[in-house]
Amino acid sequence: MDEPHTAARETAPGEHRKRILTGDRPTGCLHLGHYVGSLRHRLAFQHDHDSFFIIADLHMLTTKPSKDDIEHISEHAREIVLDHLAVGIDPAAVTFYLQSAVHEVYELQLLLSSLVTVERLQQLPTIKDMASAAGLEQIPYSLLGYPVLQAADILLPRAHVVPVGKDNESHVEITRQIARRFNSAYGEVFPIPDAFVVGGTLVGTDGNAKMSKSLDNAIFLSDDAATLRRRVRSMYTDPKRVHADIPGTVEGNPVFDYLDLFDPDTAAVDALKARYRTGTVGDVEVKAHLLEVLEAFLSPIRERRADYAARGGFVDALIVEGTLRMRDEARETMKAVKQAMGLTGAWNRIVRRAEKAHKRAE
Ligand code: ATP
Ligand code: MG
Repeated sequence: MDEPHTAARETAPGEHRKRILTGDRPTGCLHLGHYVGSLRHRLAFQHDHDSFFIIADLHMLTTKPSKDDIEHISEHAREIVLDHLAVGIDPAAVTFYLQSAVHEVYELQLLLSSLVTVERLQQLPTIKDMASAAGLEQIPYSLLGYPVLQAADILLPRAHVVPVGKDNESHVEITRQIARRFNSAYGEVFPIPDAFVVGGTLVGTDGNAKMSKSLDNAIFLSDDAATLRRRVRSMYTDPKRVHADIPGTVEGNPVFDYLDLFDPDTAAVDALKARYRTGTVGDVEVKAHLLEVLEAFLSPIRERRADYAARGGFVDALIVEGTLRMRDEARETMKAVKQAMGLTGAWNRIVRRAEKAHKRAE
């Protein structure tokens, strides 16, 4: 088995670097939307931060996961890690871990849950949105507690920075509140984490405001050349343009949104936009150009992915190693938490009393 290489992290002066907590639910392969919304920011962070990437499978349980979803966790975890490595995340510089395998997170969520009110959680628009997205008419207790689970995720590795989309900023705010309340009630255990709002939502190939795998409007990082071609050819453009000589609209046209993001030659994009607006270029030509641009972007990603996938056992070993590292961190944090709360003391006192009584009875 090919062992993951960890030398870079061990030799780096890592302990003084700020710690990041970020991650994904293991629901499937990542697409260009994930690249724009999160992966590109993770790439920018990876070498001057200590990054913890959570594979957040417990977060799938907060809505209503099917048995099938749960059965695919291990596969999806592997795909997600491969997608990260494929775009250039350095396996030696980051820690990938499986949330459900770090049991301290269940403990910490419970201990933190007295530091936030039901009213506060009910006010969050994200909870209602998630319930309706999952087709739930009523909000399960687990979903209401989802931001508290997120707080446990963030506070367990004592993270300093949490990159989030604008819509999730309120969850980090709850985490900050919980951490402040814990520290002032029991003693300084947690750094107060900062949200780092990362921007950018990529539109879908169908023109929908968000690329999403459940809307079937996504281009996956792992799509092969033929799939990419098919997806680009069938992309939504300006519906007014039944002929190539009709002046077209560039704004809100996903083909140009993608070019703006992925074509490094901005002058060429500007020229193409000018021709599109005056009706001197057809959709077929614009799409052919976009296909070239995306192929140039995705082909090295595809190759790196295949290389890592071919290294038997590498990805699984990486997740195992990262999870073990996270377990060590989690144990340390829980020791500090229980000591601060005086929880360890209660158990120890009972054990001591029991031992004494036992000796007396002898
Ligand atoms: P599903 O259809 O199952 O909801 P999805 O493709 O929408 O899946 P999510 O798992 O919901 O992906 O996305 C997780 C995170 O990835 C989001 O919170 C967001 O940060 C980022 N993300 C997903 N899609 C996009 C997108 N189109 N543009 C920017 N960021 C995105
Ligand atoms: Mg989604």
